[in-house]
Amino acid sequence: MVRTARVQPLFDDVAERDADPGAAGAVLTIDLTALVANYHLLQGRLGGADCAAVVKADAYGLGAARVAASLSRAGCRHFFVAHLQEGIELRRVLPAEAEIFILNGLMPGAEALCLDRGLTPVLNSLDQVDRWTALSRRLGAALAAILQIDSGMARLGLSPAEIDRLTRDPARLDGVALRAVMSHLACADEPDHPANRAQLAMFEAQRRRLPPAPASFANSSGIFLGADYHFDLARPGAALYGVAPVPDAPNPMRPVVGLDARVIQTRRIAAGDAVGYGHAFRATGPMRIATLAVGYADGWLRSAGRAGLAYVGDQALPIAGRVSMDSLTLDISVLPADMLQPGDFVELLGPHRSIDDVAAAAGTIGYEILTSLGGRYRRRYID
Ligand SMILES: *Cc1c(COP(=O)(O)O)cnc(C)c1O
Repeated sequence: MVRTARVQPLFDDVAERDADPGAAGAVLTIDLTALVANYHLLQGRLGGADCAAVVKADAYGLGAARVAASLSRAGCRHFFVAHLQEGIELRRVLPAEAEIFILNGLMPGAEALCLDRGLTPVLNSLDQVDRWTALSRRLGAALAAILQIDSGMARLGLSPAEIDRLTRDPARLDGVALRAVMSHLACADEPDHPANRAQLAMFEAQRRRLPPAPASFANSSGIFLGADYHFDLARPGAALYGVAPVPDAPNPMRPVVGLDARVIQTRRIAAGDAVGYGHAFRATGPMRIATLAVGYADGWLRSAGRAGLAYVGDQALPIAGRVSMDSLTLDISVLPADMLQPGDFVELLGPHRSIDDVAAAAGTIGYEILTSLGGRYRRRYID
């Protein structure tokens, strides 16, 4: 029996409703107020340390320009992106005093562009150090950079052997205005993993061999490992966007993303009828099906179909059959007949269904759900 199932009007505001021509298959709502609340929550957790914002991959799919501008107004001064190209685009929307760091490092030939666009590289190897200092010598001015050391992830950053070489020839860092020394945790989302302590010890030991500089270590989950991990500058991404920083614990972050998908058709089917590609679902009795205008081309992963749920009010509705490219099918038999009509919206992400719920159903992590969010949604920002 359905208790509170009710098709909610998605737009309270009449002007906003009238502006929606029904053209998009779904509406992605990004709550910038919740984003800023999450930033303040993390900043509060950090005590005296500063809180940067990681806005790579278009702020995990939510729109780097809008997200970064909001965080900048909230007092954030340090932003991290992955690629130089992302930094170039972000520079246009941030005030000059905001510093933008390029996590993926300094590619050969990109030095002048990086400097010209007012971006600060994360130097991940001695070769990158040498090319940045060569530019600094040509200009006769020190150039800002972060130095990354690999504390046990084997992904990016100077190895201990490279740090050995630096300590034997410290002049190699002349010309670098060292903004920070950083490293990155591999297992921060597993608080009991021994690699966390091991990486912390390695980071402490290696950074003492370098010129004194502020230290940056923690990502979102790292902030929740405790004060030992905070140092001077934390680099959260996912938690800002509402992903639970500590899996299997209550999520202290506010949800930032909502996704409401449009019903485009409903039908009745009989026992034995099959639904969707591969006939992966077959009705065992009479049932009703609603087709939603969201598919894997919108980032609604095929794997999210298996244990997938959508919501009308408090009522959960299982996904029936495989997710198609542009649509998916929902078992709506439990709803009163004719309650859902073409044009109505159904919640795929929102108060009843978190990013982490969807990720668990799809066998992946919230990060992948967020960064997969498609380009066909109508996007609305709450500010
Ligand atoms: C992506 C990234 C972060 C942010 O990680 P979250 O887990 O999203 O908080 C921080 N530091 C580095 C080096 C990263 O690559």
